[in-house]
Amino acid sequence: MMILFFGIRPGKTTTVDLKHVKCPHCNQNNTLSGESTPNFFHLFWIPLFRVSTTQVIHCHHCKKGYYKEEFTKEMKTAIER
Ligand SMILES: [Zn+2]
Repeated sequence: MMILFFGIRPGKTTTVDLKHVKCPHCNQNNTLSGESTPNFFHLFWIPLFRVSTTQVIHCHHCKKGYYKEEFTKEMKTAIER
């Protein structure tokens, strides 16, 4: 009998500073940093391909966190680079 081990597991989180982007909450510039975590489809603990990316943005000034659905156009452009 063959047993398959597979599933979705998160990869390494990368952090980027979002330059020249204003925080919509406190209106400060250059206070935002974004975190991207790729989610990989694993088979036998080997990452095969990326299925999605979890992204969050935090403001260092007002400590507000933003989820992907709340990103402004400027945030999206800055985090994708
Ligand atoms: Zn802020």
